[in-house]
Amino acid sequence: MVVTGFSGAIGNTPLIELRELSRQLGRRVLGKAEFLNPGGSVKDRAARGIVDDAEARAVLQPGGTIVEGTAGNTGIALALVANERGYDSVIVVPDDQSREKIELLRAYGADVRVVPAVAFTNPENYYHVARRIAEELPGAFWANQFENTANRRAHEATTGPEIWQQCDGRIDAFVAAAGTGGTIAGVAAALKARNGEVLTVLCDPMGSALYNYVNYGELKPEGDSDLEGIGIKRLTANFEGAPVDRAIRATDAQATAMAHWLLEHEGIFVGGSSGLNVVGAATVARELPAGSTVVTILCDGGGRYLSRTFNDAWLRENNFAKGQRLAKILESAPH
Ligand code: PMP
Repeated sequence: MVVTGFSGAIGNTPLIELRELSRQLGRRVLGKAEFLNPGGSVKDRAARGIVDDAEARAVLQPGGTIVEGTAGNTGIALALVANERGYDSVIVVPDDQSREKIELLRAYGADVRVVPAVAFTNPENYYHVARRIAEELPGAFWANQFENTANRRAHEATTGPEIWQQCDGRIDAFVAAAGTGGTIAGVAAALKARNGEVLTVLCDPMGSALYNYVNYGELKPEGDSDLEGIGIKRLTANFEGAPVDRAIRATDAQATAMAHWLLEHEGIFVGGSSGLNVVGAATVARELPAGSTVVTILCDGGGRYLSRTFNDAWLRENNFAKGQRLAKILESAPH
């Protein structure tokens, strides 16, 4: 099948049965291979959805500039959509993100503004800097992935229905982390619309406020995480009202060990957020009857983290282990 352009190549990613994981658990764990999107991450879908919507509303005009504040993957996706459609892009990135992602953004021709990583309440936070640039620059459109629900709708219209079709409606649970919340909210809505019995679970990193929000109705962060692209301390329009049944959480140590486990035992090379998602999926799978099917998201590729997750010196500095057994990874869950 021929697709048209970069945007046409987004989506319809494989749903991969994680064979060794499924064998050890006695439950099927399936990973939606979003790292195989043409821009290399799950954010290609959100970027396409946001730009399509902006064009349809005529808030982005020919020759205009797409502006966004991003942990990296959304910026990478927006820069590529911008190139495809003849827009400029200005991408504001906090300086605690992997240098691989920042270098990719520069290579793709985005105007990259690296800003200090400060709290959301600080006006110099990348989110506010991006908004101000968009306000001041003529012809600029602020993508605003956190509050712009074209993000969630992209997943409700594509990722969710693809998963449903690919597993023939035989799905017992869906588990994922949230950054903007667009992926989990959109996929959960699409699955629940088809079968209200599908269990939807947020797997939150430490330091994020959503675990307590989903389970206890209170936005309360506990602990800390350096995982890129996931975890948030506020309620976004994209996450608000998501049909999520409950939340669990996992640590950076678990996520990192799982990213290595997937590489070593499945030949699947993905980043830490995917590692966390698979920890969550395996945790939920173990609570379900044998033979159940649990689906999660493989968000981006491991190549974006060669200087961190897949760097031995970095692992040592952070006291993270690789080469752990599955049971060991899962049993170190936070309480
Ligand atoms: N993993 C990575 C690596 C990401 O960049 C993102 C996007 N922020 C996510 C997971 C989470 O996706 P979402 O924003 O749709 O919640």
